[in-house]
Amino acid sequence: MQAHLVCFESTCRAQYDVRDVLYNCPKCGGLLEAAYGPIGADAASLKKLWRERRMDNAPLEQSGVWRYRELFPFLEDTKHVVTLREGNTPLLPAPRAAAYGGLKAITFKHQGFNPTGSFKDNGMTAGAAQARLLGMKRVACVSTGNTSASMAAYASAGGLEPLIFIPNGNISYGKLAQALEYGAKTFQVDANFDQILALVRVLAERLGIYLLNSINPFRIEGQKSIVIEMMDQRDWKVPDWIVLPGGNLGNVSAFGKGLREMLALGLIDKLPRLAVIQAAGSSPFYEYMASLSASGGSAPFVAQGHPETLATAIKIGDPVSWPKAQFEIETTRGVVEKADEQEIADAKAVIGASGIGCEPASAATLAGIKKLVAAGVIDRDADVVAVLTGNVLKDPDYIYRYHTGQLTGPDGAAIRANFGNAPVVVPNDADRITALIS
Ligand SMILES: *Cc1c(COP(=O)(O)O)cnc(C)c1O
Ligand SMILES: [Zn+2]
Repeated sequence: MQAHLVCFESTCRAQYDVRDVLYNCPKCGGLLEAAYGPIGADAASLKKLWRERRMDNAPLEQSGVWRYRELFPFLEDTKHVVTLREGNTPLLPAPRAAAYGGLKAITFKHQGFNPTGSFKDNGMTAGAAQARLLGMKRVACVSTGNTSASMAAYASAGGLEPLIFIPNGNISYGKLAQALEYGAKTFQVDANFDQILALVRVLAERLGIYLLNSINPFRIEGQKSIVIEMMDQRDWKVPDWIVLPGGNLGNVSAFGKGLREMLALGLIDKLPRLAVIQAAGSSPFYEYMASLSASGGSAPFVAQGHPETLATAIKIGDPVSWPKAQFEIETTRGVVEKADEQEIADAKAVIGASGIGCEPASAATLAGIKKLVAAGVIDRDADVVAVLTGNVLKDPDYIYRYHTGQLTGPDGAAIRANFGNAPVVVPNDADRITALIS
Protein backbone atom coordinates (compact mmCIF):
# COMPACT_ATOMS: atom_id res chain seq x y z
CA MET A 1 0.00 0.00 0.00
CA GLN A 2 1.47 3.26 -1.10
CA ALA A 3 0.58 6.35 0.93
CA HIS A 4 1.66 9.91 0.34
CA LEU A 5 0.66 13.48 1.08
CA VAL A 6 -0.81 15.60 -1.70
CA CYS A 7 -1.44 19.33 -1.88
CA PHE A 8 -5.18 19.96 -1.94
CA GLU A 9 -4.90 22.94 -4.35
CA SER A 10 -6.05 21.77 -7.79
CA THR A 11 -3.47 24.01 -9.50
CA CYS A 12 -0.58 22.50 -7.48
CA ARG A 13 -1.21 18.87 -6.40
CA ALA A 14 2.45 18.52 -5.33
CA GLN A 15 3.23 15.17 -3.67
CA TYR A 16 5.25 14.54 -0.53
CA ASP A 17 6.42 11.58 1.47
CA VAL A 18 3.91 10.43 4.05
CA ARG A 19 6.64 10.75 6.70
CA ASP A 20 7.43 14.40 5.97
CA VAL A 21 6.45 16.60 8.90
CA LEU A 22 4.34 19.10 6.99
CA TYR A 23 1.15 20.96 7.82
CA ASN A 24 0.90 22.99 4.61
CA CYS A 25 2.27 22.57 1.09
CA PRO A 26 5.83 24.02 1.01
CA LYS A 27 5.29 25.07 -2.63
CA CYS A 28 2.01 26.95 -2.45
CA GLY A 29 0.91 26.99 1.19
CA GLY A 30 -2.18 24.88 0.41
CA LEU A 31 -3.75 22.29 2.67
CA LEU A 32 -2.42 18.74 2.52
CA GLU A 33 -4.32 15.49 2.37
CA ALA A 34 -3.39 11.82 2.54
CA ALA A 35 -3.74 9.81 -0.68
CA TYR A 36 -3.28 6.12 -1.36
CA GLY A 37 -2.69 3.65 -4.15
CA PRO A 38 -5.32 1.04 -5.00
CA ILE A 39 -6.84 -0.60 -1.89
CA GLY A 40 -6.75 -4.07 -3.47
CA ALA A 41 -10.02 -5.35 -2.00
CA ASP A 42 -13.58 -5.26 -3.30
CA ALA A 43 -16.53 -3.71 -1.50
CA ALA A 44 -18.22 -6.97 -0.53
CA SER A 45 -15.12 -8.46 1.09
CA LEU A 46 -14.38 -5.21 2.97
CA LYS A 47 -17.92 -5.14 4.38
CA LYS A 48 -17.60 -8.77 5.45
CA LEU A 49 -14.17 -8.22 7.02
CA TRP A 50 -15.37 -5.20 9.02
CA ARG A 51 -18.39 -7.14 10.32
CA GLU A 52 -16.21 -10.05 11.41
CA ARG A 53 -13.85 -7.76 13.26
CA ARG A 54 -16.67 -6.67 15.57
CA MET A 55 -16.57 -10.17 17.07
CA ASP A 56 -12.82 -10.02 17.63
CA ASN A 57 -11.48 -9.04 21.07
CA ALA A 58 -8.19 -7.57 19.81
CA PRO A 59 -7.98 -3.85 20.80
CA LEU A 60 -7.40 -2.79 17.19
CA GLU A 61 -10.56 -4.52 16.00
CA GLN A 62 -12.57 -3.25 18.98
CA SER A 63 -11.72 0.31 17.92
CA GLY A 64 -14.51 1.89 15.86
CA VAL A 65 -11.78 3.72 13.97
CA TRP A 66 -9.06 1.14 13.27
CA ARG A 67 -11.58 -1.54 12.35
CA TYR A 68 -11.90 0.39 9.07
CA ARG A 69 -8.16 0.96 8.57
CA GLU A 70 -8.20 -0.32 4.95
CA LEU A 71 -9.62 3.11 4.04
CA PHE A 72 -6.75 5.05 5.69
CA PRO A 73 -3.68 2.83 5.31
CA PHE A 74 -1.02 5.41 6.12
CA LEU A 75 0.67 3.39 8.89
CA GLU A 76 3.23 0.80 7.84
CA ASP A 77 2.82 -0.94 11.16
CA THR A 78 -0.17 -0.88 13.50
CA LYS A 79 2.14 -1.19 16.52
CA HIS A 80 2.14 2.62 16.64
CA VAL A 81 -1.61 2.75 17.29
CA VAL A 82 -2.89 4.16 20.59
CA THR A 83 -6.51 3.12 21.08
CA LEU A 84 -8.96 3.90 23.88
CA ARG A 85 -11.72 2.00 21.97
CA GLU A 86 -12.83 5.21 20.26
CA GLY A 87 -15.73 5.27 17.81
CA ASN A 88 -18.41 2.59 18.26
CA THR A 89 -20.87 5.45 18.76
CA PRO A 90 -24.61 4.81 18.48
CA LEU A 91 -27.27 5.86 16.00
CA LEU A 92 -30.18 7.12 18.11
CA PRO A 93 -33.68 7.82 16.75
CA ALA A 94 -35.33 10.85 18.38
CA PRO A 95 -39.02 11.39 17.52
CA ARG A 96 -39.38 14.43 19.76
CA ALA A 97 -36.39 16.16 18.18
CA ALA A 98 -37.69 15.23 14.73
CA ALA A 99 -41.04 16.89 15.48
CA TYR A 100 -39.25 20.00 16.74
CA GLY A 101 -37.19 20.18 13.55
CA GLY A 102 -40.26 19.65 11.33
CA LEU A 103 -39.15 16.19 10.19
CA LYS A 104 -40.97 12.87 10.24
CA ALA A 105 -37.90 11.20 11.67
CA ILE A 106 -34.33 11.97 12.65
CA THR A 107 -31.37 9.90 13.76
CA PHE A 108 -28.51 11.24 15.82
CA LYS A 109 -25.03 9.78 15.40
CA HIS A 110 -23.72 10.59 18.86
CA GLN A 111 -19.97 11.16 18.88
CA GLY A 112 -20.24 12.27 22.50
CA PHE A 113 -20.06 8.56 23.39
CA ASN A 114 -16.33 8.60 22.63
CA PRO A 115 -13.73 8.01 25.40
CA THR A 116 -13.12 11.72 26.00
CA GLY A 117 -16.64 12.73 25.00
CA SER A 118 -16.25 14.17 21.50
CA PHE A 119 -15.54 13.17 17.89
CA LYS A 120 -12.02 14.53 18.29
CA ASP A 121 -11.07 11.03 19.51
CA ASN A 122 -11.78 9.54 16.06
CA GLY A 123 -9.09 11.79 14.61
CA MET A 124 -6.75 11.93 17.55
CA THR A 125 -6.09 8.19 17.63
CA ALA A 126 -4.85 8.52 14.04
CA GLY A 127 -2.81 11.67 14.69
CA ALA A 128 -1.21 10.16 17.79
CA ALA A 129 -0.29 7.01 15.83
CA GLN A 130 1.45 9.13 13.18
CA ALA A 131 3.29 11.10 15.90
CA ARG A 132 4.60 7.81 17.33
CA LEU A 133 5.52 6.47 13.90
CA LEU A 134 7.55 9.64 13.31
CA GLY A 135 9.34 9.13 16.62
CA MET A 136 8.00 12.39 18.10
CA LYS A 137 8.25 12.96 21.84
CA ARG A 138 5.99 16.00 22.23
CA VAL A 139 2.68 16.90 20.66
CA ALA A 140 0.78 20.19 20.83
CA CYS A 141 -2.52 21.74 19.86
CA VAL A 142 -4.50 24.93 20.20
CA SER A 143 -8.01 24.24 21.20
CA THR A 144 -11.35 25.60 22.23
CA GLY A 145 -11.47 22.52 24.48
CA ASN A 146 -12.30 19.16 22.98
CA THR A 147 -9.16 18.80 20.88
CA SER A 148 -7.03 19.43 23.95
CA ALA A 149 -9.01 16.98 26.09
CA SER A 150 -8.63 14.33 23.41
CA MET A 151 -4.98 15.01 22.64
CA ALA A 152 -4.08 14.95 26.33
CA ALA A 153 -5.65 11.50 26.72
CA TYR A 154 -4.16 9.92 23.59
CA ALA A 155 -0.71 11.44 24.11
CA SER A 156 -0.53 10.33 27.73
CA ALA A 157 -1.86 6.87 26.87
CA GLY A 158 0.76 6.59 24.13
CA GLY A 159 3.77 7.88 26.09
CA LEU A 160 3.94 11.28 24.38
CA GLU A 161 4.14 14.61 26.22
CA PRO A 162 1.01 16.71 25.57
CA LEU A 163 1.32 20.53 25.42
CA ILE A 164 -1.92 22.46 25.27
CA PHE A 165 -2.57 26.08 24.38
CA ILE A 166 -5.97 27.55 25.12
CA PRO A 167 -7.51 31.00 24.89
CA ASN A 168 -7.58 32.46 28.39
CA GLY A 169 -11.09 32.44 29.86
CA ASN A 170 -12.77 30.98 26.79
CA ILE A 171 -13.10 27.33 27.61
CA SER A 172 -15.65 25.26 29.47
CA TYR A 173 -14.44 23.85 32.77
CA GLY A 174 -15.37 20.31 31.82
CA LYS A 175 -12.90 20.37 28.94
CA LEU A 176 -10.13 22.19 30.79
CA ALA A 177 -10.53 19.74 33.68
CA GLN A 178 -9.98 16.84 31.29
CA ALA A 179 -6.74 18.31 29.93
CA LEU A 180 -5.41 18.79 33.45
CA GLU A 181 -6.52 15.36 34.62
CA TYR A 182 -5.03 13.59 31.59
CA GLY A 183 -1.69 15.17 32.47
CA ALA A 184 -1.17 17.81 29.78
CA LYS A 185 1.08 20.79 30.32
CA THR A 186 -1.49 23.52 29.79
CA PHE A 187 -0.82 27.13 28.77
CA GLN A 188 -3.62 29.68 28.94
CA VAL A 189 -2.68 32.42 26.49
CA ASP A 190 -4.14 35.90 26.49
CA ALA A 191 -5.22 35.85 22.83
CA ASN A 192 -7.96 34.33 20.68
CA PHE A 193 -7.88 30.94 18.97
CA ASP A 194 -6.57 32.16 15.64
CA GLN A 195 -3.77 34.24 17.19
CA ILE A 196 -2.65 31.34 19.37
CA LEU A 197 -2.54 29.02 16.37
CA ALA A 198 0.01 31.33 14.73
CA LEU A 199 2.04 31.37 17.95
CA VAL A 200 2.08 27.59 18.29
CA ARG A 201 3.24 27.12 14.71
CA VAL A 202 6.30 29.20 15.58
CA LEU A 203 6.92 27.13 18.72
CA ALA A 204 6.46 23.82 16.88
CA GLU A 205 9.12 24.81 14.37
CA ARG A 206 11.48 26.03 17.07
CA LEU A 207 11.12 23.12 19.50
CA GLY A 208 10.42 20.17 17.17
CA ILE A 209 6.94 19.56 18.50
CA TYR A 210 4.40 17.65 16.41
CA LEU A 211 1.21 19.65 15.83
CA LEU A 212 -2.09 17.87 16.24
CA ASN A 213 -4.42 20.67 15.22
CA SER A 214 -7.23 19.92 12.81
CA ILE A 215 -5.01 20.96 9.90
CA ASN A 216 -3.12 17.71 10.59
CA PRO A 217 -4.04 15.48 7.63
CA PHE A 218 -3.95 12.27 9.68
CA ARG A 219 -6.62 13.49 12.07
CA ILE A 220 -8.84 14.04 9.05
CA GLU A 221 -8.15 10.44 8.00
CA GLY A 222 -9.27 9.13 11.40
CA GLN A 223 -12.41 11.26 11.33
CA LYS A 224 -13.47 9.60 8.08
CA SER A 225 -14.35 6.60 10.26
CA ILE A 226 -17.39 8.51 11.57
CA VAL A 227 -19.17 8.27 8.21
CA ILE A 228 -17.77 4.81 7.45
CA GLU A 229 -19.12 3.47 10.73
CA MET A 230 -22.40 5.33 10.14
CA MET A 231 -22.88 3.58 6.77
CA ASP A 232 -21.87 0.20 8.23
CA GLN A 233 -24.48 0.64 11.00
CA ARG A 234 -27.11 1.52 8.39
CA ASP A 235 -26.22 -1.57 6.30
CA TRP A 236 -24.75 0.81 3.70
CA LYS A 237 -28.03 2.63 3.07
CA VAL A 238 -27.08 6.23 2.34
CA PRO A 239 -29.20 8.93 4.05
CA ASP A 240 -30.48 11.94 2.13
CA TRP A 241 -28.70 14.36 4.46
CA ILE A 242 -25.88 14.33 6.98
CA VAL A 243 -25.95 17.44 9.15
CA LEU A 244 -23.06 18.61 11.35
CA PRO A 245 -21.84 21.76 13.10
CA GLY A 246 -18.92 23.64 11.54
CA GLY A 247 -16.06 25.39 13.35
CA ASN A 248 -12.61 24.82 11.90
CA LEU A 249 -14.33 22.72 9.21
CA GLY A 250 -12.09 19.68 9.61
CA ASN A 251 -14.99 17.35 10.25
CA VAL A 252 -16.99 18.25 7.14
CA SER A 253 -13.75 17.86 5.15
CA ALA A 254 -13.28 14.39 6.63
CA PHE A 255 -16.90 13.38 5.98
CA GLY A 256 -16.74 14.50 2.36
CA LYS A 257 -13.44 12.72 1.68
CA GLY A 258 -14.62 9.54 3.37
CA LEU A 259 -17.90 9.54 1.44
CA ARG A 260 -16.20 10.14 -1.91
CA GLU A 261 -13.75 7.34 -1.26
CA MET A 262 -16.55 4.96 -0.24
CA LEU A 263 -18.42 5.83 -3.44
CA ALA A 264 -15.31 5.20 -5.58
CA LEU A 265 -14.88 1.77 -3.98
CA GLY A 266 -18.53 0.84 -4.49
CA LEU A 267 -19.21 0.65 -0.74
CA ILE A 268 -22.08 3.10 -1.23
CA ASP A 269 -24.08 3.90 -4.36
CA LYS A 270 -24.54 7.67 -4.03
CA LEU A 271 -23.42 10.65 -1.96
CA PRO A 272 -25.63 12.09 0.77
CA ARG A 273 -25.97 15.87 0.88
CA LEU A 274 -23.93 17.54 3.62
CA ALA A 275 -25.33 20.43 5.67
CA VAL A 276 -22.95 22.44 7.85
CA ILE A 277 -24.43 24.63 10.57
CA GLN A 278 -22.47 27.50 12.08
CA ALA A 279 -23.27 29.72 15.05
CA ALA A 280 -24.54 33.08 13.78
CA GLY A 281 -21.89 34.98 15.77
CA SER A 282 -19.12 32.86 14.32
CA SER A 283 -20.14 32.16 10.75
CA PRO A 284 -17.36 33.09 8.28
CA PHE A 285 -18.00 29.99 6.16
CA TYR A 286 -21.73 30.65 5.99
CA GLU A 287 -21.06 34.25 4.93
CA TYR A 288 -18.49 33.14 2.36
CA MET A 289 -20.75 30.56 0.72
CA ALA A 290 -23.62 33.07 0.70
CA SER A 291 -21.43 35.71 -0.95
CA LEU A 292 -20.24 33.14 -3.51
CA SER A 293 -23.75 32.36 -4.65
CA ALA A 294 -24.75 36.04 -4.57
CA SER A 295 -21.77 36.99 -6.74
CA GLY A 296 -22.11 34.07 -9.13
CA GLY A 297 -19.01 32.22 -8.02
CA SER A 298 -16.20 34.58 -7.12
CA ALA A 299 -15.82 36.14 -3.69
CA PRO A 300 -12.92 36.27 -1.23
CA PHE A 301 -12.96 34.30 2.00
CA VAL A 302 -13.13 36.82 4.84
CA ALA A 303 -12.12 35.75 8.35
CA GLN A 304 -14.05 37.10 11.35
CA GLY A 305 -11.83 38.97 13.80
CA HIS A 306 -14.06 38.57 16.84
CA PRO A 307 -16.19 35.43 16.64
CA GLU A 308 -18.76 35.23 19.43
CA THR A 309 -20.89 32.32 20.56
CA LEU A 310 -21.59 30.34 23.72
CA ALA A 311 -21.06 27.23 21.58
CA THR A 312 -17.32 27.49 22.22
CA ALA A 313 -16.45 24.39 20.16
CA ILE A 314 -17.43 26.28 17.00
CA LYS A 315 -16.20 29.72 18.04
CA ILE A 316 -13.66 30.07 15.23
CA GLY A 317 -13.31 33.12 13.02
CA ASP A 318 -10.63 31.87 10.63
CA PRO A 319 -11.31 28.20 9.90
CA VAL A 320 -8.24 26.60 8.36
CA SER A 321 -10.02 23.91 6.35
CA TRP A 322 -12.46 26.15 4.44
CA PRO A 323 -11.12 25.25 0.94
CA LYS A 324 -11.69 21.54 1.62
CA ALA A 325 -15.08 22.26 3.18
CA GLN A 326 -16.15 24.30 0.14
CA PHE A 327 -15.14 21.45 -2.16
CA GLU A 328 -17.09 18.88 -0.14
CA ILE A 329 -20.19 21.05 0.10
CA GLU A 330 -20.14 21.66 -3.64
CA THR A 331 -19.45 17.99 -4.46
CA THR A 332 -22.36 16.76 -2.33
CA ARG A 333 -24.73 19.58 -3.36
CA GLY A 334 -24.65 20.54 0.28
CA VAL A 335 -25.71 23.68 2.11
CA VAL A 336 -24.44 25.93 4.90
CA GLU A 337 -26.83 27.45 7.45
CA LYS A 338 -26.42 29.45 10.63
CA ALA A 339 -28.31 29.44 13.93
CA ASP A 340 -28.39 32.11 16.62
CA GLU A 341 -27.82 31.65 20.37
CA GLN A 342 -31.52 31.28 21.22
CA GLU A 343 -32.07 28.75 18.44
CA ILE A 344 -29.07 26.68 19.54
CA ALA A 345 -30.07 26.80 23.22
CA ASP A 346 -33.65 25.69 22.54
CA ALA A 347 -32.60 22.91 20.16
CA LYS A 348 -30.15 21.71 22.79
CA ALA A 349 -32.87 21.51 25.43
CA VAL A 350 -35.08 19.52 23.04
CA ILE A 351 -32.24 17.05 22.36
CA GLY A 352 -31.78 16.80 26.12
CA ALA A 353 -35.51 16.22 26.71
CA SER A 354 -35.28 13.40 24.16
CA GLY A 355 -33.08 11.61 26.69
CA ILE A 356 -30.02 12.10 24.51
CA GLY A 357 -28.28 15.36 25.38
CA CYS A 358 -25.25 17.05 23.82
CA GLU A 359 -23.03 20.09 24.21
CA PRO A 360 -24.04 23.48 22.72
CA ALA A 361 -22.13 23.24 19.41
CA SER A 362 -23.74 19.89 18.63
CA ALA A 363 -27.24 21.35 19.03
CA ALA A 364 -26.56 23.73 16.14
CA THR A 365 -27.48 20.71 13.97
CA LEU A 366 -31.11 20.54 15.08
CA ALA A 367 -31.42 24.34 15.12
CA GLY A 368 -30.15 24.44 11.53
CA ILE A 369 -32.37 21.55 10.45
CA LYS A 370 -35.45 23.38 11.75
CA LYS A 371 -34.58 26.37 9.56
CA LEU A 372 -33.70 24.28 6.51
CA VAL A 373 -36.95 22.30 6.75
CA ALA A 374 -38.96 25.51 7.16
CA ALA A 375 -37.22 26.93 4.08
CA GLY A 376 -38.04 23.80 2.05
CA VAL A 377 -34.37 22.89 1.56
CA ILE A 378 -34.66 19.66 3.56
CA ASP A 379 -37.79 17.69 2.77
CA ARG A 380 -40.07 16.76 5.67
CA ASP A 381 -39.83 13.08 4.68
CA ALA A 382 -36.08 13.12 4.24
CA ASP A 383 -33.80 10.52 5.79
CA VAL A 384 -31.62 12.73 7.99
CA VAL A 385 -28.67 11.85 10.22
CA ALA A 386 -27.43 14.66 12.46
CA VAL A 387 -24.05 14.26 14.10
CA LEU A 388 -23.92 15.21 17.77
CA THR A 389 -20.28 16.09 18.20
CA GLY A 390 -19.89 16.36 21.99
CA ASN A 391 -21.17 14.96 25.27
CA VAL A 392 -23.86 16.66 27.40
CA LEU A 393 -21.49 16.91 30.40
CA LYS A 394 -18.89 18.98 28.57
CA ASP A 395 -20.60 22.22 29.54
CA PRO A 396 -22.86 21.82 32.61
CA ASP A 397 -22.65 25.50 33.51
CA TYR A 398 -24.46 26.41 30.28
CA ILE A 399 -27.19 23.86 31.05
CA TYR A 400 -27.83 25.07 34.57
CA ARG A 401 -28.03 28.67 33.46
CA TYR A 402 -30.42 27.89 30.61
CA HIS A 403 -32.85 25.91 32.72
CA THR A 404 -32.85 28.50 35.51
CA GLY A 405 -33.30 31.43 33.14
CA GLN A 406 -29.86 32.87 33.80
CA LEU A 407 -28.22 32.25 30.44
CA THR A 408 -27.07 35.33 28.55
CA GLY A 409 -25.54 35.50 25.08
CA PRO A 410 -22.05 36.84 24.37
CA ASP A 411 -23.60 40.28 23.82
CA GLY A 412 -25.26 40.16 27.25
CA ALA A 413 -28.75 39.62 25.85
CA ALA A 414 -30.92 37.24 27.86
CA ILE A 415 -31.59 33.81 26.37
CA ARG A 416 -35.15 32.71 27.16
CA ALA A 417 -35.65 29.34 28.84
CA ASN A 418 -38.30 28.29 26.31
CA PHE A 419 -37.79 24.67 27.26
CA GLY A 420 -36.58 25.42 30.78
CA ASN A 421 -36.71 22.85 33.54
CA ALA A 422 -35.67 24.62 36.72
CA PRO A 423 -35.31 22.71 39.99
CA VAL A 424 -38.15 23.38 42.42
CA VAL A 425 -37.32 24.40 45.99
CA VAL A 426 -39.71 22.66 48.39
CA PRO A 427 -40.17 22.32 52.11
CA ASN A 428 -39.56 18.95 53.78
CA ASP A 429 -43.26 18.16 53.65
CA ALA A 430 -44.78 15.10 51.91
CA ASP A 431 -48.23 16.70 51.50
CA ARG A 432 -46.92 19.84 49.87
CA ILE A 433 -44.68 17.83 47.50
CA THR A 434 -47.55 15.46 46.64
CA ALA A 435 -49.65 18.47 45.68
CA LEU A 436 -46.88 19.70 43.39
CA ILE A 437 -46.49 16.32 41.64
CA SER A 438 -50.15 15.37 41.08
C1 LIG B 1 -14.38 20.52 17.26
C2 LIG B 1 -15.83 20.52 17.46
C3 LIG B 1 -16.72 21.01 16.50
C4 LIG B 1 -16.25 21.66 15.24
O1 LIG B 1 -15.65 20.76 14.32
P1 LIG B 1 -14.72 21.31 13.15
O2 LIG B 1 -14.09 20.10 12.57
O3 LIG B 1 -13.75 22.24 13.79
O4 LIG B 1 -15.62 22.02 12.19
C5 LIG B 1 -18.07 20.93 16.73
N1 LIG B 1 -18.55 20.40 17.88
C6 LIG B 1 -17.73 19.93 18.83
C7 LIG B 1 -18.33 19.38 20.08
C8 LIG B 1 -16.35 19.96 18.66
O5 LIG B 1 -15.56 19.49 19.62
ZN1 LIG C 1 0.70 23.16 -3.15
